[in-house]
Amino acid sequence: MKTLLSLTTSLGLLLALLFSANVSQAAPPQTASSAPAQQEQDGQRPFILPFAEPPGPDTWLLGQAYGNTVGAYFNRNTTYRYSQGIHFGVDLTAPCGTEIVAIADGVVALVDATAYGSLPHNLIVDHPQLGYATLYGHLLERPDLTPGQEVKQGEVIALSGDPEDTCFGRPHLHLEIRDYPGRAWKYNPVNLIDADWDNLALVGSFRSGFERDLDDPRKWQHLDDQPPAVTGGAIINNFANPWPRAR
Ligand SMILES: [Zn+2]
Repeated sequence: MKTLLSLTTSLGLLLALLFSANVSQAAPPQTASSAPAQQEQDGQRPFILPFAEPPGPDTWLLGQAYGNTVGAYFNRNTTYRYSQGIHFGVDLTAPCGTEIVAIADGVVALVDATAYGSLPHNLIVDHPQLGYATLYGHLLERPDLTPGQEVKQGEVIALSGDPEDTCFGRPHLHLEIRDYPGRAWKYNPVNLIDADWDNLALVGSFRSGFERDLDDPRKWQHLDDQPPAVTGGAIINNFANPWPRAR
């Protein structure tokens, strides 16, 4: 009987603990709703995904997120040095030749602008009405478009390719959202493209690959919590205590 009583007491305690845990969890959202990232973008996501087809193993998947990814960290002094050591776009893995659509109404600004990188072919579209420009990189071929030409959201504007130009290396679309008219700042597409990014991150090769600063281990660890980057700015992820360790 004594054992039963103590068991009942323990259960009661456990329930009380669980209940209090629920109560204490219920309070924080008041502050969470005013997170700086959300204020920064005003909650507006004016762009759509760059593919007409839904994601899947035969179409496209999230390859690498924007931001402080492990891959960008390891290559911060080489590939990503001109964008502060972070991956300054989002990579969407797709077979070569996948049709890419304009993610908003815009005007073709540049075709095959090598200074912007993301070869072998790229396309830059300005969106003055939104205050942004978008870059579609690693394209299969030179897009058949002329600067000054208007494009509509959802219109096919290019075909996806491969940075190695082989189509079996690592075929993907590298997509950037920059400021307009400067085109020097790069922003996190997750906060600007209307899509279910949390579900997209569940499959594909990205998983949860953000580099960790063990001196501030929660910094830049989420899809929607990544810093903007400016061309030519100082590297921002030279962590003294990184994880995984630097090569
Ligand atoms: Zn990329």
